[in-house]
Amino acid sequence: MSCEVFKYQIIDPKSIERFIYAGNATFTIVSNKTSKRFTYRVTKMHNMNDTSSVRFVKMLTGPDNETNYTYLGYLLTDHKGMMYAGKKGSPNLVGFKAIDWLVGNIHLGRNPEQLEFYHANKCGACGRLLTAPESIETGLGPICANKHHV
Ligand SMILES: [Zn+2]
Repeated sequence: MSCEVFKYQIIDPKSIERFIYAGNATFTIVSNKTSKRFTYRVTKMHNMNDTSSVRFVKMLTGPDNETNYTYLGYLLTDHKGMMYAGKKGSPNLVGFKAIDWLVGNIHLGRNPEQLEFYHANKCGACGRLLTAPESIETGLGPICANKHHV
C-alpha cells in the first residue's frame, strides 16, 4: 500500500459514518497506540436496488489491496452503530472487533482520538476519484454527497 492513502483523513464522526455506510467505501483505520492498521471494504449488494440496508464488510488480509479481502460480517443502514456477524461472519477476528468498536463510537458522535480514519480518495458511494477539496474532506463526491446527506 502506498503512502498516498494516508493523506485522505476524515475527522468528523458524522462524515465518517456517512462514508462507511455510503455503499462502496474503502478505508483504513490506524491505531495511534499500537500503529496497527486495518483496511476495509464496505459495499452494498450487487444487482440490488438502492434501498437495501445491508452493507457487506470485508477486511484486507493479503498483499493485493484489490482482491485479498476476507468477509467479516455486515452493517445495516437502518440500525447503525454495530457489526452483525450473521452465519458466515467472523466475530472473533480482531478486525471485526475493531470496526464494531469504530461504528459504535462514531454513531454516538465520538471520534476516538487513538484512532485515525482514512479513505482511499475514491467516493464512498460510487467509487469515482475525488478531486475537490471539500469532497476529499468527506470522502463523497458532490452528487453522492447530496444523495447521502444525514
Ligand atoms: Zn460518488
